Amino acid sequence: MRAPTRHETPVADEATSPTADDTPLLGLTGVDKVFTTGRVSYTALHGIDLAIDAGELIAVVGPSGSGKSTLLNIVTGIDRPSAGTVTVAGARLDHMNEEQLAAWRGENVGIVFQFFQLLPTLTAIENVMLPMDFAKLGSVAEREERARAKLALVGLEDKLEHLPLELSGGEQQRVAIARALACDPPFLVADEPTGNLDSENADRMMELLVDLNARGMTVLYVTHDGVLAERSHRVVELRDGTITTIRVP
Ligand code: ADP
Ligand code: MG
Repeated sequence: MRAPTRHETPVADEATSPTADDTPLLGLTGVDKVFTTGRVSYTALHGIDLAIDAGELIAVVGPSGSGKSTLLNIVTGIDRPSAGTVTVAGARLDHMNEEQLAAWRGENVGIVFQFFQLLPTLTAIENVMLPMDFAKLGSVAEREERARAKLALVGLEDKLEHLPLELSGGEQQRVAIARALACDPPFLVADEPTGNLDSENADRMMELLVDLNARGMTVLYVTHDGVLAERSHRVVELRDGTITTIRVP
């Protein structure tokens, strides 16, 4: 993981402190997340302590509603914790402003959302090029070539010009994965990345995650599939918003 980027103006002093060798890539300490709707409060996460080292392949499992997506949103800075701290490469993620978060995310994290979140008016290849456009990565021709390669990696080289609605759920999911890989992030966070794939494509996707991890990418993925969870280095089990076990498969 790279340190906070040059785009950021340092605000909190910890946000720019150098990373000590024993600092985990990502650390959550005493994290709570409480959602308040009107007068009703709901604790989606409580007392989460988790340290992720660079190079790990971690599976998050747990029943529906146990807080898996909420945890991923905290890890990627999409949501802020109600209590506790989130550190990335020694910097306080929970202290960054939106601009700093966006810059950090753009350089460091690829995100596969549970419900894809593809832009409906853009073709598959345009969706994959979008993060490269934001990052101003290379020339347009280079972005196109790269996007082609990422879509080929997920087996969609023949669907480049399709709009999301012209693709099956599984294909949309694969476009979302290609998009997450667009800028070759050091850290990939994926919410049920195989949830809409048939078993053959799910296996293929898992192979891809394992392969990316073997080449140095840190990967955190949510899965409902016990077999896919076993492919990780560590399985984090959530129940009712708390971590019940962390085990090595
Ligand atoms: P999972 O991904 O494990 O299925 P989630 O993290 O999506 O679970 O949700 C955990 C709990 O938090 C659920 O009960 C859900 O209804 C609640 N929750 C999630 N997001 C919100 C929100 N924005 N507002 C209110 N409640 C929410
Ligand atoms: Mg979820």
